[in-house]
Formats: sequence, structure tokens, C-alpha cells
Amino acid sequence: MILIVNAGSSSIKFKLYSIEGKTPNALVEGLAERITVDGALTIKVGDQKHEFDDKMSDHLEAVTSILNRFKELEVIKNEEDIKGIGFRIVHGGDKVVKPVELTDEMKKVVEENIRLAPLHNPGALTAINAFESKMPKAKLVGCFDTSFHQTMPKEKFLYPTPYSWYEDHAVRKYGMHGISYDYITLKAAEMLNKKIDDVNLIICHLGNGASICCVKNGKSLDTTMGLTPLAGVMMGTRAGDIDSSIIQYISKETGMDLNQVTDALNKESGLLGVSGISSDMRDVTTAVEKGDERATLALDMYATRISDYIVKYANYLENKVDAIIFTAGVGENSAAAKKAVIDKVKLLNVTLDDTKNSQGYDDYLEISTPDSQVPIYKVRTDEELMICNTVLKFL
Ligand code: ADP
Repeated sequence: MILIVNAGSSSIKFKLYSIEGKTPNALVEGLAERITVDGALTIKVGDQKHEFDDKMSDHLEAVTSILNRFKELEVIKNEEDIKGIGFRIVHGGDKVVKPVELTDEMKKVVEENIRLAPLHNPGALTAINAFESKMPKAKLVGCFDTSFHQTMPKEKFLYPTPYSWYEDHAVRKYGMHGISYDYITLKAAEMLNKKIDDVNLIICHLGNGASICCVKNGKSLDTTMGLTPLAGVMMGTRAGDIDSSIIQYISKETGMDLNQVTDALNKESGLLGVSGISSDMRDVTTAVEKGDERATLALDMYATRISDYIVKYANYLENKVDAIIFTAGVGENSAAAKKAVIDKVKLLNVTLDDTKNSQGYDDYLEISTPDSQVPIYKVRTDEELMICNTVLKFL
């Protein structure tokens, strides 16, 4: 069995796979939350949902609780049934270019990068240590959201800021959603029947957080998120790219300090900020259907920013684009959002098939018309499966 772990400062999300032959089969998923507060654990085995209010004063107690409940629910006989654990880690800085075994040296790298991902890397590190102490025989593997983008050339990842900011403070573009882009690139090679080194893609990962990746010859050439996830396209609650002087200006105007302004750009902007209704695309498109002006403006701005990047990335790919792919919550499910985006891509001769755009599907579906210059797909991403397959390779 292989366990996949996505840990935050007060939560551990997990998914357990059994491996039959070489095929992962999802057995159980769940969430331990309110760690350090009181503790709540949900474990879903098939359709059965089990809830526990186990006390969790730290990550170690949460891990103990998860493993004990696994045994009680007869999901595992003992800890040794789980041969490998894959951790989703947000930031690997510029040293980690692929998934790694979490040796002491690599754990140090996760720790060093806390300064770049202060909200994410600490939770991952605490969870790694907790699982390591409870399951010393399991192989621990780290998959990083940033590593897929380490192929970006310098002229793409560098900001035109003083060079010393890069040399002394690691200020550069890192990008995120790399595990999803890795999965989608592999899937696209399979879908398009091409070698991975030959695929050129524009992948729009549109979830609550959203980014776009320009994949040239199977590798990330550029992406929209930057030093942090705040850059790039407009998102559920994040502003994406703005004039950076707004920060100083609005701070002076309102008296908010730098942290408060950054917080507002992360949590009160984007679809939520403009529509004044919700960060959830379903609520926004429902309001658009009812003629709400601010929701219509929000969707329009959202689509404009994405289509701008699609055109820019098609330019980087010298117009040799094998597919435009939409994925994650909005990309997989919102026909209205995809239509709004593609309607604004004027420099490429692309057209959506409206029926296929709204049609249900399993794994992926081509949603463009046969005469579209570039095929357009919606594809279901699966970051946990990507991590599971990676751990399997290490085992
Ligand atoms: P994240 O992992 O970044 O939290 P997800 O990839 O789960 O986000 O995407 C969440 C977003 O997907 C929600 O905000 C919602 O707007 C959108 N979404 C999910 N399901 C649908 C749906 N059926 N139709 C339209 N939008 C949807």
C-alpha cells in the first residue's frame, strides 16, 4: 500500500492506495483537521464515511490517530502494510528539480524553503517527521509543486528587479501546480499519441488557485504564478498580476499595513473581490445568468486574463500548439468559464463545440470543433495518483 499525504499547519489530508500489479487502486481517503486546536478525523472507506473526535495536540498525535483508526477499520493490519508515503510539498526552491527520497539532507531543503512558503512548508515538514517516527521502515518520497517548473530558462524566471534580490534573496519565479502539470503532460502525450518530448501544450489549471503553464517539448517553459501563488491570472480570491505600487498606495490611503494589504490581495480579491458575491465559479456564473453586473464584469476580467496568457504562450510556442487543456475544479467543470475564455482568444482560430463543452465525461474529452486550429480538451487532473505513481517508481 502507498499513502499520499498533503499536510498543512493544522490539517493532514490523506489517501491510501493498494497496489495491484502496478496499478494503484484508491482504498481510503480522509482528513485530520483542527490539529493543535482539538482534533477531528474523517475517514472515507468506499462510500462509508467514519468520523472521530480524537484529540490531536500535534501532528504526531494526528498520525497516531490515523494509523490506529486504519487498523480499527481493518484497512491495514499494521503499519508495515504501508510500504511508501508520498508527501505533497509546496516549495522546493531552486534545488529540487524532481521528486526525491526524503533523506535528512532533503528535509533540510524543505526547511530552508520555509522562507519562500511560510504557510505551507512547515506543515509538510512536521508531518514528514511524524510519519517517519511512527513508520521508520516506509520509504518517504517528496513531490514538490515547484519542481516541474525548474526547466524554465533564466530570461523567463527572472524578474527585472535589482539582480542582488535574486542572488541574495532568491527572488525569482518558481511557479506552482507542478504535480498537476506533470500529470496532465503525461496524460496529454498519451491522448495525443506523441512522445512526451514532442508535446507542446498550454495547460490552464483553474481551481480556486489558478495558473497556466506553457509546456514546450514536455517541459515547463513558463508559468503564471511567481515567487508566490499571488501572481498571474485572476483567481477565486487572489488578484493575480497587478501594478505593485498599488500596495504602497492603498496602505497609505487606508492605514492597512503590508501584511494586511497582502492578505487582502490573497483572500479578498479575484472573483470574490470584483463580483462581491463569491469566490466560487458556480455562484459567479449563476449570478451572470441572472444578469448581475458585477458578476458579469468579474467573469469577463477572469476570462480576459486567461486568454491573454493563452495567446502569449502560443507565441512562445511559435504557434505549434498540440492542445489547449483545461483542468482543476473550474477547468474541468465550468462550461461557462471555458466558453468565456475561448471566446476571447482572437489570434488563434479556435472554436469550442458547445455540446461537448457541457457534456459529462470520465477522464478527458476533446471539446473543440473539428476545424479548430488547436484542439481543446478538458482533462481531470489527479495529483494524488501522480504522487502515488512516483512513490511506486521509488519502491
Ligand atoms: P483548489 O484545489 O484550488 O482548492 P479546485 O480545483 O477544487 O480548487 O477548484 C475549486 C473551484 O472549482 C471552485 O471554486 C468552483 O468554482 C469550481 N467548481 C467545482 N465544481 C464545479 C462545477 N461543477 N461547475 C463549475 N465550477 C465548479
